[in-house]
Amino acid sequence: MESKTMKLQDRDGVKFFTFPQLETLGFIKHGFSTRYGGVSEGHYRWMNLSFSNGDDKVTVLQNFQYFAKALGVDLGSMVLSDQDHGVVIRRVRDQDRGKGIIKEKDYRGVDALITNVPGITLITQHADCVPLFFTDSKNKAVGMAHSGWRGTWGEMAKKTVTRMKEEFGTDPKELYVGIGPSIGPCCFEVEMDVLEKLQELTDWRKEDVVFQGEGKYRVDLWQLNKRMLQSAGVPESRIFVTDLCTQCHPDVFFSHRVHGRQRGSLAGMISIAED
Ligand SMILES: [Zn+2]
Repeated sequence: MESKTMKLQDRDGVKFFTFPQLETLGFIKHGFSTRYGGVSEGHYRWMNLSFSNGDDKVTVLQNFQYFAKALGVDLGSMVLSDQDHGVVIRRVRDQDRGKGIIKEKDYRGVDALITNVPGITLITQHADCVPLFFTDSKNKAVGMAHSGWRGTWGEMAKKTVTRMKEEFGTDPKELYVGIGPSIGPCCFEVEMDVLEKLQELTDWRKEDVVFQGEGKYRVDLWQLNKRMLQSAGVPESRIFVTDLCTQCHPDVFFSHRVHGRQRGSLAGMISIAED
């Protein structure tokens, strides 16, 4: 599949996308999964990275194992979000290793994870909702956020920048942010109720919406998230926006709008490499 902004990686059949600009920073590992490289079957075919959508848990753990290996991280280093479309951000510390993967989570309702501990792998789950990859190159800190329309409405992008500032002293000017594969402006159709909410945002602009007729509107969550990052102080030249729409490519990605509830989950991951 063609992308002008992201690079398709293939390691032993595990296919995932990366941002070339984040790769060149050298000190992080990151990636966004596709359906390829896992061993799930049926609706979950193949790389389902969710334990909570009805798939066999042993199989999902095997998928995480393959994904970890492809990304060059340890399974036990992974820490999973606990998403409910809110804007709660959790700082992940050394003792959190493995939570949600090989250990029970001891937190609920967490849609973004941040850390400055090398060798910890932050993971969020997606199937149309926007993944945000944060990297503070100066203070060596990272973040991984889930920002669907509700998260966008709750200003997840801005809140993650603010929290990284509080926790790690992050200067927004030193941040690099990737906006990853998710439902694009080509497909994200909403009705008036959702549109009215998004229009409340200070970063909303007229060009973020196209009227489709019959009470339907198409919204550009990518640009809206990008503008939020810019108003939080992240330079435009450091924000990298995907051109991969999950709904347009249901053979490559799981898409909630295409597959409904019976489907697998994709995952975004980011980690500070250990020396
Ligand atoms: Zn599309």
